[in-house]
Amino acid sequence: MKKHEFILKDLDCAACGIKIQDKIAESASYQNVVVNYNTLKLSFETDYMQDEVVKADIIEIVSKVEPEVVIMDLDEYKKIKKSDSFNKNKNIIRIIIGMALAGIAFLLKKYELLSNTFLIVSYMVLLYRTIKNAVSLLRKRTIDENFLVTISCIGAFLIDKKTEGLMVIFLYEIGKILEEKAVNNTRKSISELMDIRPEYANLKKANGELEIVEPDDVEIGDVIIVKQGEKIPLDGVVISGEASLDTSSLTGESKHKKVVEGDRVLSGSINDSGLIEIKVLEEYENSTISKILNLVENATDKKTKTETFVNKASRIYTPIVVGLAFIICIVLPVFMNVPFKEALYRALVFLVISCPCAIVISVPLSYFTGIGKASKEGILIKGSNYLDSIRKIKRFVFDKTGTLTKGSFGVEKIVSINSQYSDKDIIELCWQGEKLSNHPIARAIIQKYEELNKNQEKDIVTIYDYKEESGKGISFKQNDKTIKIGSYEYILEGQAKKEKHEENGTLVYISVDGENIGYIVLNDTIKQEAKDTISKLKEMDISTTMFTGDGADTAIKVAKEIGIDSVKAEMLPQDKYSELEKLLEEEHSNNAMVAFVGDGINDSPVLAISDIGFAMGGIGASSALEASDVVLMTDDLKKIVSSIKISKYTNKIIVENLVFALSVKLIVLAFSMLGIAKMWQAVFADVGVTLITIFNTIRILRYKR
Ligand code: ADP
Ligand code: MG
Repeated sequence: MKKHEFILKDLDCAACGIKIQDKIAESASYQNVVVNYNTLKLSFETDYMQDEVVKADIIEIVSKVEPEVVIMDLDEYKKIKKSDSFNKNKNIIRIIIGMALAGIAFLLKKYELLSNTFLIVSYMVLLYRTIKNAVSLLRKRTIDENFLVTISCIGAFLIDKKTEGLMVIFLYEIGKILEEKAVNNTRKSISELMDIRPEYANLKKANGELEIVEPDDVEIGDVIIVKQGEKIPLDGVVISGEASLDTSSLTGESKHKKVVEGDRVLSGSINDSGLIEIKVLEEYENSTISKILNLVENATDKKTKTETFVNKASRIYTPIVVGLAFIICIVLPVFMNVPFKEALYRALVFLVISCPCAIVISVPLSYFTGIGKASKEGILIKGSNYLDSIRKIKRFVFDKTGTLTKGSFGVEKIVSINSQYSDKDIIELCWQGEKLSNHPIARAIIQKYEELNKNQEKDIVTIYDYKEESGKGISFKQNDKTIKIGSYEYILEGQAKKEKHEENGTLVYISVDGENIGYIVLNDTIKQEAKDTISKLKEMDISTTMFTGDGADTAIKVAKEIGIDSVKAEMLPQDKYSELEKLLEEEHSNNAMVAFVGDGINDSPVLAISDIGFAMGGIGASSALEASDVVLMTDDLKKIVSSIKISKYTNKIIVENLVFALSVKLIVLAFSMLGIAKMWQAVFADVGVTLITIFNTIRILRYKR
């Protein structure tokens, strides 16, 4: 399967995007077809044909559904986007010409035939785009608002409401242009918010010269130079120089990080001062920045129920409306004694009012904006559906180490309980194995050992059969002996329970051939924002639970200190899984959602089964980016509260927009039935409502807590 992406240029309504999506999906050759109206991106997978054939086929399919839309490659589109004002101006010129012709028609009122001719031409010029769209749709037996406007205008002309017909089309066209502008501006301000895409790289060639190239063209192992004020285009390691990096575009927080030779740097950070030479470790595609951008851009592909509903409903909506208009035409004259011409007029007004634009545009735009807003704050949300679900979470389950605590342990003491082994032997034994692990506990043990043996030679004994069991510990063999280091449960798994030690801190046990020879006490610090976050969640009526593989004493102590409602300790990874399953079942029966918050490294299974998985991103941990639904780039727990607020606010805006749009429509509708509303007022209401909902949506970007 190969993934293809195209831009649907000139796609100008969300419903049309859905039509294209459905049409392509009908063909068995294409899978996972998604049209994203916000980014104009069409993506799908196929394992058939060469690229050119695919493109030709897609062009053909799309031309049948939406002849206006032009299929473009992503690069092609980038280039033309810069010189894009032409099309918009073309429409403005058309409207001016149309109105000028209408003006002449009015001046020539005395000469009826001449005047009418000018008026007809003026109608044709003004209606050109709308009729074209309506006709192309009619051929496929679908009708939409273009059709509604066309028959309203022509109808108005025929029943001798010529000026009104003109007003309708004029306002409609102006509305369309304003609407496009507003939507484009929103899109732009969101992409500016995420303006982190590096445009170029300074590639250092073998002869020492610099060449400016696209980040895409740089290969692993190449050396690039990042000067002051430039963005780091690809992930890599500093090989010379030093600099202070601003990572705010990745994390949403302006923090400066000093890097020197040997430090890893992530693409997307900005070099504030200094000059560094970087050896590239990842191609652009796999670099942090590119992963994050992809994630955010494709986030709105995952649609919420509301969005899907709006899209589906808008397809059957227009035909129903046209049917109703017919009924009005018949019922009013026959049963209510309204003259036929008047009834026809009211039916036309009704058609105009029924345009669903405001709703079809504002719902997806709101989610898109909400996701953009969140990512600006260092919260990556992977889909509108997740953004919408966050506000429904009634229980948060937290992992302890690395999530509620910093995960930077310090060794407090080493205790031997077997006289054959001194403290020194124990830490050395641990060091032999933990060298191979990346767990925070391992790092603490390595550090302690190195501290104790600063200037001494280390005798490295060969170890073999090394195994790490995530959430439990490690095991390996040395001189025919099996050594296990890890949690109480892990060391004594399958054995008659032995002595458990009471200590203040996290205990790691060491066993040799099944015999416990001692333990190490480690201490971790609780994140400073943990307590505050938990109490804020409580204020929101959300319950909290902690799951940990650590011993019960430490777990309870931590939970007490930060105010977590309930704790489960000494859990093996499979226990976390089954306990979470139970919780999910329980909460789902109350119609609530459960979130799991973990450090993303050893919690993938639980992150995956929870309704919403929050992972500590620790900037760029790719397993966290993959396993979860929401990534907190700064590991900052407060961002959980922010994400709930953004989710609620986005929902509030959507509801506001829907209520507003529907009530204005209903009011105008009632007026039109009573014969009070004029046709141009109906268009004005429609265009106005659409614009107001778009502006209302922009409030999400400005939302401050
Ligand atoms: P939490 O569930 O609090 O996030 P982890 O899943 O990271 O904790 O680990 C659970 C327990 O497993 C730790 O408290 C420790 O006892 C043990 N453990 C895990 N990995 C290692 C390791 N590399 N070395 C020693 N002990 C480990
Ligand atoms: Mg953990």
